[in-house]
Amino acid sequence: MIEPFLSAVPVLMKLEEAGYEAYFVGGSVRDFLLNKQISDVDIATSATPEEVKRVFSRTVDVGIEHGTVLVIYNNESYEITTFRTEAEYLDFRRPKEVAFIRSLKEDLQRRDFTMNAIAMDRQGNLIDPFNGRLAIDEKVIKTVGSALERFQEDALRMMRAVRFVSQLSFVMESQTVTALTKLIPLLDNIAVERKRTEFEKLLAGQNRKKAISILIDTDLFSYLPGLKNQKKFLELLLTYHCEKLNIKEMWSLLLFCLELKNRDADSFLRGWRLPVKEVRDIQNTLAYLAKRLEHEWTVYDLYTAGPDTIQSVEKLYLVLKGIEEMESIHYWKKVFQELPIRERSEINVTGNDLMQWFNKSGGPWLKETLFEIEHAILIGKVANNYQDIKEWLVECSRN
Ligand code: ATP
Ligand code: MG
Repeated sequence: MIEPFLSAVPVLMKLEEAGYEAYFVGGSVRDFLLNKQISDVDIATSATPEEVKRVFSRTVDVGIEHGTVLVIYNNESYEITTFRTEAEYLDFRRPKEVAFIRSLKEDLQRRDFTMNAIAMDRQGNLIDPFNGRLAIDEKVIKTVGSALERFQEDALRMMRAVRFVSQLSFVMESQTVTALTKLIPLLDNIAVERKRTEFEKLLAGQNRKKAISILIDTDLFSYLPGLKNQKKFLELLLTYHCEKLNIKEMWSLLLFCLELKNRDADSFLRGWRLPVKEVRDIQNTLAYLAKRLEHEWTVYDLYTAGPDTIQSVEKLYLVLKGIEEMESIHYWKKVFQELPIRERSEINVTGNDLMQWFNKSGGPWLKETLFEIEHAILIGKVANNYQDIKEWLVECSRN
């Protein structure tokens, strides 16, 4: 076995010593079998949340109603979820109530796809009642049991299927595709936040263009915020080599293709319930991208954008222009690094200096003067040191 499973083995042992069953489950086992990097391990156990809390001294209630307890052990944290079924589904959404059970197999049975329904014990033996291993070897996405039933229980699973196409480059098995094509409208019942999680994973996956083409072909996009009737814009997105873009850059590219700016971009992103900070970041990226498409970077744009935005905008620019060579990203970041100042705090005079020199108290003039100094330093009119700035200002005030 490998990390991070190895470090988690003692957690399973403690549960077993207390008389319960415990296994690694879900995405971590799947990714392990795929030789992919594993971020964190999911643990499933026959112990109820209360019982889990009795076994470990440090726990946090993160989702007791779903059976999940966070356990802190050896300075690592682990999400431990009680075996459960989801008997009663309401309105094609997640179940209203979950029932805790003692059977691993039943727990695996409620999971979405066979590749996600494999358990691994602490010796590394697989418990795989639905042939998930085979599905992984064959690279297919197949629901546990009838796809029609499973998608009706929770319509989000249809989006999850497409995001796994993007992340894993697997294909959907034919019954899964048929059911999906038929049941897509049920996605109307799903909370935007849950859709966003899957959509962002889809946008960031290595096989993202294939996944987006599935969204288009199945009409799934019509059930996503702000995308109804936008087919031709999504098709435009497919014409770009966007695989190297990160999630923020993908949102920006999407907005660019949709021809949305300013307030329209804002309401689109808010429709997806993106956090305000991310909305601002994307808007900022779009604004500099618009400039970049008009002209080369100016010193002032580089300075106000900062290195992260420069990188994102330049990447997007190259994608839009179909240029594969990425050298210009390093070039513009280097130009930024060599600017006389990279942020306001690097100016070698302060507001206090100015007040002293002019023997004036604070006011709007102070901000204006600092702004002029900043600009003059950036364009090379004055060197960034105390004496030069002072002399330059005195000279300016004489003119
Ligand atoms: P990732 O690597 O992106 O975290 P994951 O497979 O671990 O992928 P999660 O959303 O973290 O996905 O879910 C963990 C596990 O819970 C899944 O592997 C699957 O077994 C189960 N699961 C998650 N969502 C659903 C759902 N909507 N219906 C049924 N089972 C689900
Ligand atoms: Mg996971």
